[in-house]
Amino acid sequence: MDVQYCPQCGKLLNKTVKIEDRDVKQCSCGFIDWDNWVNVSAVTVAYNDDGDILMVRMKRTGKLTFPGGYRNIGESLEDAAKRECLEESGYLIDDLQLYDVYTLDRLRLVWIIFKAKLKSGSFIENEEVSEVVFVSPSNPPEASTLRGSLSVKLLHKLIKQT
Ligand SMILES: [Zn+2]
Repeated sequence: MDVQYCPQCGKLLNKTVKIEDRDVKQCSCGFIDWDNWVNVSAVTVAYNDDGDILMVRMKRTGKLTFPGGYRNIGESLEDAAKRECLEESGYLIDDLQLYDVYTLDRLRLVWIIFKAKLKSGSFIENEEVSEVVFVSPSNPPEASTLRGSLSVKLLHKLIKQT
């Protein structure tokens, strides 16, 4: 998806230049479209008092992943993580700590991953999620039941650290 208009001055971006062997669009005002936009998703590893991790089963695929979703403009990453976890699972979280950052260029995706504590709540069915599953790091689900490579990578890292 190309940027059509310069976000800096509003003119049509129609001039392509070569910079460091890359074809990029440059505006007369100096703005360069590096074509490197990504969607930022705030993802949470939320622990209950037993040390189990909350995962959500997606209705569309039947696969498990961590609660999370795109940050809205104007929203902090912590607030996005709390909101997405509540929307997808029905649980409130607290004590968020930045844990890791993953990138997946094919999907232009960045995961900002927090660890958090489950505060309260219970599963509320919603459009995206069919159930909440508490996963024990000592008895994790098979990789084939997880949704996407980032879920697999993250769960693997969490298991190794326990
Ligand atoms: Zn411009």
